[in-house]
Amino acid sequence: MFASPRGRKQMGQLISLKCEKCGYEVNLGVGAGLTFNSLDTVLTLFDKPTQDKIKAAIEQYPRNFWYVSKEIGVCDKCGRISGVAVFKLNQENGQFIVYKAKCPCGAEVDIYDSEEVIEGKTKISCPPCGEPLEVTVNGHWD
Ligand SMILES: [Zn+2]
Ligand SMILES: [Zn+2]
Repeated sequence: MFASPRGRKQMGQLISLKCEKCGYEVNLGVGAGLTFNSLDTVLTLFDKPTQDKIKAAIEQYPRNFWYVSKEIGVCDKCGRISGVAVFKLNQENGQFIVYKAKCPCGAEVDIYDSEEVIEGKTKISCPPCGEPLEVTVNGHWD
């Protein structure tokens, strides 16, 4: 199974989010790597129940375009910011089927679009102090 991600950059970005007020800092890998076209590879980023849902969605819509990228997940429960895999499958009606991975603590996360955060359109609040975090792109991964 191979899905061609038309128009999407097949390169992940290494970013850091920093708080100038309290010194909080986190480094993340976001975006999509070269191997993210492979279903077997991307399935490993999700837990078993989510893997089953993804497989079912692809079986239901075998001709549809899907992709996986890592976005920025913020956990309400433990306060952690992590790179969280998000699966999207394009339906005929223009809607997406979306499944996201969980925080390492097992809780659901709020997803922030990594490109919007990098462009400064969306700000993430510092978990300890609430200040908007500054984003820096440090490099790429593939
Ligand atoms: Zn802070
Ligand atoms: Zn958590």
